[in-house]
Amino acid sequence: MPERTIFLLVVLCCICSAAVQAAARITPIDPGNGRTILVVSPHADDATLFIGGTVAAWSDAGWRVVVIRVTDDRWDSIGLPEAETIKRSSIEFRQAMSILGVKDVVDLGFQTDVITDADRLQIREHIIRLIRTWKPYAISTIDPYSGVHEDNQDHVVVAEAVAEACWTAQFDKHHPEHLAAGLQPHGVVEKWYFGRPVREATDVIDVTRTLERKARAALAHETPLRNIVHQLRLQSRTAGHSLPSLDAAITGDLKPLVESFVVAPAQTKGKRHGVGAAEEFRVVRFDLLEILKTHGVPVGPR
Ligand SMILES: [Zn+2]
Repeated sequence: MPERTIFLLVVLCCICSAAVQAAARITPIDPGNGRTILVVSPHADDATLFIGGTVAAWSDAGWRVVVIRVTDDRWDSIGLPEAETIKRSSIEFRQAMSILGVKDVVDLGFQTDVITDADRLQIREHIIRLIRTWKPYAISTIDPYSGVHEDNQDHVVVAEAVAEACWTAQFDKHHPEHLAAGLQPHGVVEKWYFGRPVREATDVIDVTRTLERKARAALAHETPLRNIVHQLRLQSRTAGHSLPSLDAAITGDLKPLVESFVVAPAQTKGKRHGVGAAEEFRVVRFDLLEILKTHGVPVGPR
């Protein structure tokens, strides 16, 4: 194909990609072959509760999954002091990641629930530096387009910072101090966005085989789960009721809560897509992937 035609295809591809919305489909997990996925989790429990089944499937398929925890979760507990909450949530985060097969975790340590007051450029700089350090093939975080359904501003701020970091990490004039320290600009090929719910989902991962591990990892996050139970009890009381199962869960077994809030939603999504359990994503892929398949010259992994 003449170079001019290829160039036109590239331009058309870039113009049209934003407008074309493919229907959501079950997507097989590619073998990782040593490639890296960076998962940016605003809080300790997000990577588990939103996409734990997929994280486990990526780990199983040989991907190096690196999970970045942005905040310290210091207020996500009930009846515990801040310092104890930070300590417990950090331990629980690592236990959950271990269950999901994640070996690499990074804590950024931003104060939880007030990240809107943090310096946005500083958050973005951290993400850019991590992209340049880990050189991921793909990145996964909260969908920046899901803000309309999102009442947690930590999620909104992190989603926007990651989306912006994905293109600015490629510029040589964004944070030249990184380059002076030996890092290089880096481009991410796929962005796997999740949310509640995912608007305009494109890809569905069958997590039937990893759902049990997702549930076990969720149970590891005992501190935020107790806080969820407390919130549910407060709202139930305002509605004029109590639920014996919630009363029991404030100090007792959390499995029924995980069944209701983690396992059942994944099974409902699975039913929608004809599998046992599923997690949905809006995936944004590099515009030129198809052209590279036919016209690209292999240069090997970076
Ligand atoms: Zn969160």
